[in-house]
Amino acid sequence: MTQALSIVIVGGGTAGWMTAAGLVGCLPQGMHRVRVVESEEIGTVGVGEATLPQLRDFNDMIGILEADFMRKTQATFKLGIEFVDWGFAGSSYIHPFGVHGRPIGGIDFHQHWIRAALNGDRTDIEEFSFAIQAARGGRFDLPSVDPTMVSSTYTYAYHLDATLYGRYLRSFCEQRGVTRTEGRIVDVVRNAETGDVARLDLESGQSVEGDLFVDCSGFRGLLIEGALSEPYQDWSQWLPCDRAIAVPSTSTEPPRPYTRAMAREAGWQWRIPLQHRTGNGYVYSSRYTDDERALEVLLGNLAGEAIREPNMLRFRTGRRQRAWVNNCVSIGLSSGFLEPLESTSIHLVQMAIVNLLKLLPRSAGDHRPAFEFNRLMAREYDRVRDFLVLHYHLNQREDAPLWRDMRALQIPDSLAEKIEAFVHRGEVEAYQDGLFTPASWLSVLLGQGLVPSAYSRVTDNIPPSRSAVEMRQQREEIEAQVARMGAHADFVDDYCRAAP
Ligand code: FAD
Repeated sequence: MTQALSIVIVGGGTAGWMTAAGLVGCLPQGMHRVRVVESEEIGTVGVGEATLPQLRDFNDMIGILEADFMRKTQATFKLGIEFVDWGFAGSSYIHPFGVHGRPIGGIDFHQHWIRAALNGDRTDIEEFSFAIQAARGGRFDLPSVDPTMVSSTYTYAYHLDATLYGRYLRSFCEQRGVTRTEGRIVDVVRNAETGDVARLDLESGQSVEGDLFVDCSGFRGLLIEGALSEPYQDWSQWLPCDRAIAVPSTSTEPPRPYTRAMAREAGWQWRIPLQHRTGNGYVYSSRYTDDERALEVLLGNLAGEAIREPNMLRFRTGRRQRAWVNNCVSIGLSSGFLEPLESTSIHLVQMAIVNLLKLLPRSAGDHRPAFEFNRLMAREYDRVRDFLVLHYHLNQREDAPLWRDMRALQIPDSLAEKIEAFVHRGEVEAYQDGLFTPASWLSVLLGQGLVPSAYSRVTDNIPPSRSAVEMRQQREEIEAQVARMGAHADFVDDYCRAAP
């Protein structure tokens, strides 16, 4: 029999309110008591504006309507990420949320493209991606649900104001019975026998007891690190950035339907277009620059006027050895951070929530699901790490020490095998059930300038003349369909105004 649990969530950032919303949005109403403890005085990290397409599933799962959510969070649509100057100065490619071409004769499209490229065809692979063509044209429409249409070959995510999303989720949760306790936690008391977290003591003198504690306290890791001392795996040898400065600015152009990630001397700069402003930040390595220079680089590369004081952040890339220890589950920044390059943090929060929902203990004191939860989360963090390292490692930049050092990096074996398969066979080996699809790996491998020396031999069963005709047809179909789409900015306006 399932026992009603008292679940206490520590922290009211994106992770805390998403966890509360997941619990009350997906479990039978009133089954468990859910409480969020947060301190307005401490505040939240205040960044996190670019998301992945899976966030749509989360919102759907808890019953949030898209247009309402977009209005309340000032969101825009995101078809991918443009990487500027990553391969070499002057280069640009988009990692799209969609495929590059459709199979020809049952053989992956990119194999035909590699064969053509090795035979001298200079057509950019981006011309075969619907998402990229729409993104570069500043256009948007919802994808077709008819799989025979080329306009069904992409998906999308959002750029959003994370503070507004937090507020939106808080109101969603409070309407469904989540209680909120304001105040600073000054002590975490453990049960002397079991080692479980028993109680939180607040500065106000109030105490909060619970059966299951979810640590969403951000980089502090108040419970998982402070009380339970669970070690943190440091990945700074692979992911060099450890600081960021964020500053929003006025918008100078209609919002583009994609994020921009621009390589800089000691890291990279993001530009994220929202409805009411643009999000900017410089993510950098303190080994290669200092804060003063980083601020100068960021402010010198803003498209509009800064509208707030810069927010300086420090972090250590890596993950918690075990995310779930005793009766404490860490979710969000307390369980790890892989830097914002591919906008994976909120997705990892979502994944942790979905796993927690699946593995929620049936009674207090039951820690058996922790093993499986930790296995799933560690696997996903490790895989995302490899994908991020690929961006830094595959570069031909000669202008700054960071880039030269990253090229010479001793990369994880799991990643080295993937690069090898691509170079010698044109094979894109994504992780099975991994977050990033073959199309994602392909876009970064090719986008950063790695051209394979061979393609899969079965491709030669299809005559090159047939490949050429079908490739041209696919390109023309995309071109024609994209030309019929409206501007992204108009779509956002209409959608937010008209849809329920
Ligand atoms: P926080 O937002 O820090 O929340 C912590 C909460 O704990 C707060 O409510 C705080 O009050 C509370 N708390 C802490 N200590 C106490 C205490 N003693 N007593 C009471 N309450 C306490 N993610 C993306 O998906 N996309 C992005 O584009 C992206 N960009 C990022 C850029 C940067 C530079 C950084 C650093 C992160 C970025 N992230 C991004 C990550 C994203 O911001 C976080 O994953 C997300 O905001 C979740 O944070 P959190 O809720 O874990 O922590």
